[in-house]
Amino acid sequence: MLKNISTLCFFALLFWACEAPTEATSDSSETKENPINTEETPAEYAIVIHGGAGTILRSDLTPEQDAAYREALNKALDIGEEILKNGGTSIDAVEQTIHFMEDSPLFNAGKGAVFNHEGHNEMDASLMMGNDRMAGAVGGVSNIKHPISAARAVMEKSPHVLLTGKGAEQFAADQNLEIVDPSYFYTQRRWDALQNALAREKEEGEAQVELDHNERKKGTVGCVALDKEGNIVAGTSTGGMTNKRWNRLGDSPIIGAGTFADNATCGVSCTGHGEFFIRWAVAYDVAARMAYKGIDINTAASEVINEELVKAGGEGGLIALDKMGNITMPFNSEGMYRGYAKPGERVVAIYKE
Ligand code: ASP
Repeated sequence: MLKNISTLCFFALLFWACEAPTEATSDSSETKENPINTEETPAEYAIVIHGGAGTILRSDLTPEQDAAYREALNKALDIGEEILKNGGTSIDAVEQTIHFMEDSPLFNAGKGAVFNHEGHNEMDASLMMGNDRMAGAVGGVSNIKHPISAARAVMEKSPHVLLTGKGAEQFAADQNLEIVDPSYFYTQRRWDALQNALAREKEEGEAQVELDHNERKKGTVGCVALDKEGNIVAGTSTGGMTNKRWNRLGDSPIIGAGTFADNATCGVSCTGHGEFFIRWAVAYDVAARMAYKGIDINTAASEVINEELVKAGGEGGLIALDKMGNITMPFNSEGMYRGYAKPGERVVAIYKE
């Protein structure tokens, strides 16, 4: 009898010894891949967008302006959602959604881009695939109607990731992308913003850097989508910051700073004071925190935007989604034009609400 019990104990111990390490390994790798509850059913598709973050107070917008922004955000979501719902790819959804926002004078991207110090529009855009980490970007372009399409072309048709200035414009023309006269991007509102910035700069002299930050006109656009195949794509497009000089590039065309995507973690698009987003590698940092700390997308994004950037004094926000379709849209400024759609769910928001 005693012999039987000890034999049983021996086998029980042996079983435990063999099983325990295996369980621990599979647990930790699963945590890395699926930061959120692994039993949750993934959303069939999901799309999240932003139209820039900054000092956007309810008192700043007339009811008409407020309604116009909400309508534009809803239309942008309609475009992307329609593609995803019908089984289209996340890259098409991101490109087409951003096209609409680039065409809208409301946002600081494409038509409606802010002016640089010399009174020109210089635009930046980038795009990244979550399945294979392919990416493309353009910086400082002045005549490409849809900079996001130029970013896609760089990824798909060139051996490079980032092209800038005249070279990027030549490449886009060679790819038969739509080229327009630079005057196409002009809007009175952004021109007036530059004149205000220049006037203040004259008065305040050396305050230029601070002035850029405070006078920065929000409106950079971004989109992250998850398609039915489970692929995540992230894209960002911007005119940069009002009164920028010396061919300044912000975070938007920098992979890892303004844009990042990896199916194993998340896709991210940022908006805010680009110099901080570059130095804090914001988009990548969200994904890295998920991978290395095993935390969920909401916690990871909030740590970066509401803790790290706040400590540093970097204003802005981001949108992100993971492969389960979990969405987060944190910002540390007064407002951020933002919204998302999933089957049966739609949110559009502007202020801290
Ligand atoms: N991040 C952009 C830049 O620094 C500007 C913005 O998002 O408002 O160029």
